[in-house]
Parts: sequence; C-alpha cells; structure tokens
Amino acid sequence: MDEVKITIIGAGVAGLAIAAELSSKYDSIVALEKHNTFGQETSSRNSEVVHAGIYYQEGSLKARLCIEGAQRLYELCEINSIPHKRLGKLIVATDQSELPVIEELLKKGERNGARDLKLLSKNEIGKLEPHTNAVAALYSPDTGIIDSHSLMKHFHTVSESNGVLFAFNSEVEILEKEDDWFIVGVRQENYKLKSKVVINCAGLASDHIANMAGIDIEKNKYKLKYCKGSYFSYAEPSPVKMLVYPVPHDQLTGLGVHATLDMGGRLRFGPDTEYVDHIDYKVDINKKGMFYKGALKIIPGLHEDSFVPDMAGIRPKLQGPGEKTRDFIIAEESDKKLNGLINLIGIESPGLTAAPAIAKMVSGIVDNLKI
Ligand SMILES: Cc1cc2nc3c(=O)[nH]c(=O)nc-3n(C[C@H](O)[C@H](O)[C@H](O)COP(=O)(O)OP(=O)(O)OC[C@H]3O[C@@H](n4cnc5c(N)ncnc54)[C@H](O)[C@@H]3O)c2cc1C
Repeated sequence: MDEVKITIIGAGVAGLAIAAELSSKYDSIVALEKHNTFGQETSSRNSEVVHAGIYYQEGSLKARLCIEGAQRLYELCEINSIPHKRLGKLIVATDQSELPVIEELLKKGERNGARDLKLLSKNEIGKLEPHTNAVAALYSPDTGIIDSHSLMKHFHTVSESNGVLFAFNSEVEILEKEDDWFIVGVRQENYKLKSKVVINCAGLASDHIANMAGIDIEKNKYKLKYCKGSYFSYAEPSPVKMLVYPVPHDQLTGLGVHATLDMGGRLRFGPDTEYVDHIDYKVDINKKGMFYKGALKIIPGLHEDSFVPDMAGIRPKLQGPGEKTRDFIIAEESDKKLNGLINLIGIESPGLTAAPAIAKMVSGIVDNLKI
C-alpha cells in the first residue's frame, strides 16, 4: 500500500489553501477530490465577497480568521495579480429604528479588528451611493470582491509546483485508524493508501467523513444542516457601485437579501436562507417577488421584470433553523483517539475570506504533530 505523510480530503478553497501552505514545508502530500477538478461545490457557489469581519462573535474563529484571512487575501491578490476589487460595503438603516443596530455593529466590528469602519449620515450616503434608501449606514471601505476561481487556481498551481499530488475523480469512502496510520480508501479506483495525517476539508460531506473515521457526529455536535442560498441577477446596469446590505435582524440565518456585484459589474441579489434536506441547486422562480421586495427596501426604483433566477449555493451549517450561531470546527482529534485527523466542519461564510488564515492555523496544528 502507498504511504504518504499528509492526505487532504476535498479540493475546495479550504483544501487548496491548506495544500499550498503545507507544501512549502512538507513533502508527500496527496489531495483527494471526488469531482474531476477543484472547486466544484460551495467554493464556486458564493458571493465572492472578501468580508471585513463585522458580524461575527468576538473571539470566535470566524471573527479572527476572517480578519486575518482578508488581509492575507488582498496581499495574495496584489502579489499574484488575482482579480479583485475593494468596492466597499454599506449596511443601510432604512428607518430610525435600525440606527441602534448599526451603531452596535460598528462597535462589534471594531472590537473584532475590522478596519476603517465609519457611520455615514444620509447626506454622506447621498454622495457615495445616491440610489440607496438609507437614513444612515455603516460603511466598510475594506470589504471587496474576488475572483474565487482565480484564487483557487493560484493555490492549485502553487501546491502542484511544490509537489502536491492531486487525485481527482477520487471520492473517499473509507477512513480507518490502524496503529499510527490512517487507511484511506477511494471509491472509483478501489484504491487504498496509508497516511500519517488526514485533513478533512470535505465541505458539505465533512461530517460524513468524520463519521467514517468513527466519530459519533450527533454526540459531538458535528452533524451538518444544509442551508440553501439562492440568487437572482438584475438584467439592467447596476444603479449601485458598492455592496449594499440591509441591517441584519436576529431571526435571520444569513445576512438578509443584499446586493453584490461580480467582477464584471453585474448586480445580483441574494443569497436567501432555506434549510433543505438534500443538495439541489435549482433556483425557484416563485421567489422572484420576495427578492424584488427585499431588494427594493435597500435600493428603490428597481424593476421586477429584470429579476432573473441565477445560481444557488448550500451552506454547511452546524446550527439548525432558529438555533444559536455556531463557530467553525477546526480540530485535531487526539482526544477521540484519532491523533493525526484534523476535521474542518461547518466552514460556511466567511470561509472563502478566511481560507488563507485557516490554512495557516491547520499548518500550525500539523507542525505540532511532529510527523
Ligand atoms: C450562498 C453562499 C454564499 C457565500 N458567500 C461567501 C462570501 O461572500 N464570502 C466568503 O468569505 N464566504 C462565503 N461563503 C462561504 C464559502 O463559500 C465557503 O466557506 C467555502 O467555499 C468553503 O470551502 P470548502 O473548501 O470548505 O468547501 P467546498 O468548496 O464545498 O469544498 C469541499 C470539497 O470536498 C469535496 N468532497 C466532498 N466529499 C468528498 C469525498 N468523500 N471525497 C473526496 N472529496 C470530497 C467536494 O467535492 C468539494 O470539492 C458562502 C457560501 C454560500 C453557500
């Protein structure tokens, strides 16, 4: 049986960033991906926003890794010519009752370390984004967008040139501990290898992989819930230049229907939040009215006829509907007698932004294993 030092399961943005980071220090790394290329799931079905770290619970991995990741992402983009734009973001209060919420968000964002946040008056907003409906707004100039495919391609190229072996069409279906090794089995080839370290970055299937290794995912609260986010694009020139978000409300599982722009300047609204039992990326045309109404609240003057079903992504959430927000799980599982297994579970937003910082954290964990 082939022996390797490190096996990475899943080549989404997390697995790719980890492969690139580890490949600068370690040899003998294999990345197993079930699709025929990288980034075919959540990493290519998202808003591509580089978040500033405003919303997340203080001290959480989401807050810390988002702030660190965003900074690192912008550096990577500049050094490697990865397309990105620091468009800036407005969280708009549409009536006076929402003012305390944006004031609170400002304090929270600042405590998290989000940079250059500023409260804007109606007048100031009028100069920056005259087409929004706002009595006040929280402005984050550091929020931006990134071409996520180019980012993943960068991580893939770096990893490959440092010697990482990518095996596509390789769906892991066996993961067992045997003495100091893990036995990793792949469905398509009926192939098995031995690995000292296994890093589970399997996104929507990461709880399933943890379960394969013998972890009780119910008892350990590792079980994922799928939460679909659909988008509608706007088939007219965008009236806004920045990303425009509503004020988030407690009962929301996402950030509320917001306006994002892609690298080509195309305006999109979404994602909404809908817990689902299985993976299905179809966008329900019947949601058009709801999207239009939500969008109109923050940007008046839009035309319902120009709302067109776009794409959808699925969030791997650890919390179910109405439950308290959970943090990312990034854990080495020695306490479960699975030393050398590193699980990444619940890597929902801001996972794209946080990817370089997640990679650094995982690399630190691998260093401590002294393989
Ligand atoms: C609607 C939506 C909007 C979002 N917007 C943003 C945003 O604007 N900014 C931001 O920072 N984040 C955003 N996110 C979050 C971000 O997209 C994710 O956190 C990130 O893409 C997760 O990457 P990943 O590598 O963990 O997972 P994935 O991209 O899902 O990669 C996991 C990989 O594992 C592979 N895999 C699964 N099972 C197996 C197996 N058994 N064997 C081998 N391979 C396997 C899959 O094929 C896949 O390629 C958003 C997410 C959603 C759903």
